Amino acid sequence: TTAVLSGAALAKEIRAGVTAAAEALAAAGAPPRLAVVVATDDESTAWYVRSIAKAASKTGMQCDIVDLGPDATAEQIRSRLTELSEDTSVHGIMLQTPLPGGASVEDLAASIAPEKDVDGANPVSLGRLSAGLPAFVPATAAAVLELLDHYQVPLAGRRAVVVGRSNVVGKPAAQLLLQRDATVTVCHRHTRDLAAHTRPADILVVAVGRVGLIGAEHVNPGSVVIDVGTNPTADGGLTGDVDEAEVAGSVAGLTPVPGGVGPVTTALLLRHTIESASRSRA
Ligand code: NAD
Repeated sequence: TTAVLSGAALAKEIRAGVTAAAEALAAAGAPPRLAVVVATDDESTAWYVRSIAKAASKTGMQCDIVDLGPDATAEQIRSRLTELSEDTSVHGIMLQTPLPGGASVEDLAASIAPEKDVDGANPVSLGRLSAGLPAFVPATAAAVLELLDHYQVPLAGRRAVVVGRSNVVGKPAAQLLLQRDATVTVCHRHTRDLAAHTRPADILVVAVGRVGLIGAEHVNPGSVVIDVGTNPTADGGLTGDVDEAEVAGSVAGLTPVPGGVGPVTTALLLRHTIESASRSRA
């Protein structure tokens, strides 16, 4: 039987810690504050941003959605990120994708002060992660490890395969698994015979954005599968990259979509903001 590795209880536990810390900071006159910069009218982005704001309000954390509109220029986004970086009442800054034509997130995120870069998007944060130095880690990649630890999945010496190599998920997840002494393989759109790489995995992390990419031939009975993919369904819901029906029963554990990586990601963004707010007072 396949264990369902839900993220709901873990996210709740993380948010409880955030709530207590947010109360203490507010009582000390320094309420923690997260700013989410948006420059798109994309529906799924709006949904995600609302879910961050909702999670923040549950914990008593202030969350500002800074909507610059889909016509914002790279220069406008950059200068807003600089302003927020200098604003001492703001502790966490996140830049949402997609961005208006031509603007690159790696380039713009360089204007987020690293100490407020709660989604680890500044190339400095990513570089520090690669170098094994303290840094904020992209929340989704951090959520993958948080889930593996929560369910006590051993990592050292084990085979971990990451499918997807984006700067927000695949690459930082691979770095984190490497730090924990897993033997890491990274697959991507040019990988030939994906199943040959993924089948032997003890830990399989899938972050692509393609429905049904991972089926029975991609796994083994011992695999623990973390499905990061979020794909909109016709009925307005969400589904992952793993064919749940096909894989259920053939793996040791699988995260559900929705209710797996997503809620943990959001909770960790808030926790990172608390860490930043606490440090700014130290
Ligand atoms: P991306 O488009 O930036 O990267 C996708 C990656 O998949 C690329 O590295 C590409 O090489 C690889 N790829 C594409 N086709 C492939 C194939 N056929 N075989 C193997 N690899 C292939 O996407 P992203 O931003 O990394 O996001 C990945 C998925 O995770 C998306 O569905 C996204 O919505 C989801 N996501 C979820 C959360 C969350 O909190 N749950 C957060 C971020 C992203």
